[in-house]
Amino acid sequence: MHKASPRWTDCTCFHRRGRRWEDVLEENGMRLRTRLALAFALLALVPLAVVVPPTLTRLRDTLSRELDARMEAATASAQESLERSSATARRAVEELVDSTSMEDLAREARDRPTRAIQAGTAEALMKSRGLSVLALFDREGRVLSSGHLPARRGDPDPALFAVTQQKSPRPVPVRVEVRTASGLRQLPALVTARPVDFGDLRLWAVGGVLLDESLAQHLARLTQTQVTLLAGDTPLASAGTAEPPTVTKALPLGDAATVRLVFSRAAAREAEQGVMRAFLLLAALGGTFAVLLGLLVSRWMTRPVEALTEGARRVAEGALESQVTVKASGEVGELVRTFNRMTSELKATTERLMASERIAAWQEVARRLAHEIKNPLTPIRMSLETLQAAQEAKHPRFQDMFKESAGVVLEEVDRLRRIVDEFSHFARMPKPQLAPVDLGELAQSVLALYATPPTGIQILPTLQTGVVARVDRDQLTQVLVNLVKNAEEAMASTGGTLRVRVRSTEADAIVEVEDSGPGIPLEHRARIFEPYFTTKDGGTGLGLAIASRILQEHGGKLEVGGEPGHGARFSLVLPRAA
Ligand code: ADP
Repeated sequence: MHKASPRWTDCTCFHRRGRRWEDVLEENGMRLRTRLALAFALLALVPLAVVVPPTLTRLRDTLSRELDARMEAATASAQESLERSSATARRAVEELVDSTSMEDLAREARDRPTRAIQAGTAEALMKSRGLSVLALFDREGRVLSSGHLPARRGDPDPALFAVTQQKSPRPVPVRVEVRTASGLRQLPALVTARPVDFGDLRLWAVGGVLLDESLAQHLARLTQTQVTLLAGDTPLASAGTAEPPTVTKALPLGDAATVRLVFSRAAAREAEQGVMRAFLLLAALGGTFAVLLGLLVSRWMTRPVEALTEGARRVAEGALESQVTVKASGEVGELVRTFNRMTSELKATTERLMASERIAAWQEVARRLAHEIKNPLTPIRMSLETLQAAQEAKHPRFQDMFKESAGVVLEEVDRLRRIVDEFSHFARMPKPQLAPVDLGELAQSVLALYATPPTGIQILPTLQTGVVARVDRDQLTQVLVNLVKNAEEAMASTGGTLRVRVRSTEADAIVEVEDSGPGIPLEHRARIFEPYFTTKDGGTGLGLAIASRILQEHGGKLEVGGEPGHGARFSLVLPRAA
């Protein structure tokens, strides 16, 4: 009867690589939910990811084109404004040389060269014509009078006089030396030269406009930019502001000066960032919404899986016919139907299996019992036949023989009774009444029966308390008594040590009974749990069979160990209770 009756938690078909299948299902439910949530989030974010980069590029293009157009327009209007200043200066100089006052001045200069042209002459003419540069030169390039630098009178000014060599009537940019509040400075100006002839006298009038602060201010107002006038790298005048980031455009005026226009890109950047922020907000909102939706949908989808998980757990706990009632379609629906079919068959199959196992086990027991009963019958029969023969032959020692034979018969009948008693005990074994029991205390109470062990035998207990299992106290006591009795019998002739240990692992509660007797030969190990296997005179061979069966009924097992020749160890392994 040591063969295990089937228990469904042991069945390998419910395991997948060592994991319980309900755990696998539950894990799958979890994974499906995460996957769906992620898929939805992806679904929401992918279109955004596809749309955002080209939109941003397009926006950037548009903004940059707009800036280009603005820069072009501003540059054009700045150029136009410079052109206008140039034209105004040209007209003013032309009108001046054609004027009667200039003719008068020339005539007087011919008649009375020393007096006609004085230091203040050019300044008066310059102001009257709205010019900011005017110098009158003689034929050789000596300054006769200077409006913008009166102190130059009598000296040459080759830089300014060089303008007289220009073929074009248009003003040209040159650097002119002027006196300002901060001393003498070189300032850029648009200047043109015209000859004034009277008879054989020739004068040169060289005039124009300075490019200074007021021009910068005018251009800044006109173009809505920051304008800087530069002579080489030196800034001369600046007006207007431009918020960074900026783009710069330079407008060269010959070698004399550069007009630098600084455009602000702040507005464009603001627009770009605004769009980016809007997209990010959209992505965050869309993503959150999609994840929530995904979770909701997956909850709805994983319900059948969870119901299956619950069903599987119930089956594992022993409710073999438990059914899953959840509406599901497709593969999951098929799975639910299969599960229900399987569990409804499960109980019947289990019962059939257990019944056939029981029958097989009992047949084996009956076969052995018959054998056991047959053994005493032979000596009984022989004794009776001997007596019969002796009586017929009127044997003189019949009286003695009768006494002897009666002894044998009585002894064998006693043995028969013992066999029948043990068998009926074995057959009647009641179902265990389970309750939490501290195995340390139980072992203690069993060992108390052996307070004075047989001579030569020492008992060494190591009993951990708090190791609890759900067991039938009486049946487990019977097992322990039996194991201790076997150990004592094994050490009866030699003496030795009996160790009793109670310990636990994470899942199991364990009681070990170990002796230092002869141990169990390997060839006997497979058989000692069989009913009627014994190596002792007068043994029944039922003790270990009963013990093993009790442990099986508790969901545990009885294991045999120890090295042959050095002792035997029996371990009771039981599921540990919380
Ligand atoms: P019985 O004690 O009536 O023989 P058991 O079923 O208790 O029946 O034991 C079966 C056999 O197992 C014993 O006859 C013996 O050969 C062997 N056995 C049991 N316990 C021990 C032990 N502690 N040391 C050595 N052999 C043992």
